[in-house]
Amino acid sequence: MSAAPLTIVQKYGGACLETPERVRAVAARLALLRSQGLRVVVVVSAMGKSTDHLVNLAYQVSPHPNRRELDMLLTTGERVSMALMSMALSDLGVPAISFTGSQAGVMTDDSHSSARIVDVRPVRVREELDRGKIVVLAGFQGVNPTTKEITTLGRGGSDTTAVAMAAALKASRCEIIKEVDGVCTADPRIVPDSRPLARLNFSALGEMCFWGAKVLHFRCVELAMSQNIPLVIRRWGRDEDCTQILKEVSGMEEGKALSVNSWVRVEHLAVESTDLNQGYEKLALHLKSNSLAWPQILASTYENGSTRLMLTSDGEALDALMRTVDKAKGLSPLRDPLASVTVTCYGSVATDLPHRALQILSAHKISAQKYIMSPHSVTLFVQPDQRDAAVKALHGLI
Ligand code: ASP
Ligand code: MG
Repeated sequence: MSAAPLTIVQKYGGACLETPERVRAVAARLALLRSQGLRVVVVVSAMGKSTDHLVNLAYQVSPHPNRRELDMLLTTGERVSMALMSMALSDLGVPAISFTGSQAGVMTDDSHSSARIVDVRPVRVREELDRGKIVVLAGFQGVNPTTKEITTLGRGGSDTTAVAMAAALKASRCEIIKEVDGVCTADPRIVPDSRPLARLNFSALGEMCFWGAKVLHFRCVELAMSQNIPLVIRRWGRDEDCTQILKEVSGMEEGKALSVNSWVRVEHLAVESTDLNQGYEKLALHLKSNSLAWPQILASTYENGSTRLMLTSDGEALDALMRTVDKAKGLSPLRDPLASVTVTCYGSVATDLPHRALQILSAHKISAQKYIMSPHSVTLFVQPDQRDAAVKALHGLI
């Protein structure tokens, strides 16, 4: 009896699909995989910067776009890519079919613009794979099974679609293909001599993404870890430089510094309240009544009648939040924004790392204003205009 054919899920980022030529080139690559006897599922992002353009368009029409309608708008980006990819495959003589998130059975909660996947029922995907087709899926989107509303998973969410599909289909491989050399020791735009990490464990990558690494969607790492889906991240057209992400990485030294990441803008918010719990309640209410998604909260304390929060998100979401805060009673910005710079380690942080990091910054005349320790990372907060210099300096630890 011959073994059952293996399923592979590949995800292509927007930069790999920027032009019609690139779409055709990716299609040729997928056709090759299928000819090797694999069942192929491909998750596509929106072409190039088209999601940014759509967001921009929305804000030109309305200063506070309704989040449901924003999701309706943004999901069209991936829909364009999936239809074009399926056409390109057909032209190569490869049977293919495209599906939106809802057609593919990606079920989410009802949180527009940052929905969580609650279940994946890929009935139609399986049927079409059984018919020998390549299945092309629009990333970044799903449907709420109760309300039937279309949702998006948050910026960069196509990675999460790929992992969720790989888990549901019990795929043997999940590959994320981008215009970067895997996960690097720092953002190459800031540190030109940063290098790709060949192997990495989920927990370190999860912290790197939490602290600002843009290479993968944060939820995708969480999901891959909980479902134990090994991931490969590689550059389009180059198979040699890639990062393999596994549960455990053997032979790596405990406490070794792996990478430096940062958030360029961390806002500080004060919420008048009697305790932390009430502070969070008020923030939740404010977000809900202004149709805003939760930002990523990095730290919070309660002091002198106010809950003080440090938070971040992408630029548009922060702009939208801070605009509403200015007008809201009991909520106010506490101070000018800072930037965060984080060193993430394999295993636990060496006990002297905070001190060493501060010494390095001080030698570069950068003074850190706060620091936070987490299991695998040390995070320092600096002035935003010193962010790049701080990342470069701390990269010396790697
Ligand atoms: N197109 C969406 C974005 O740019 C989703 C993705 O690319 O994963 O955020
Ligand atoms: Mg995109």
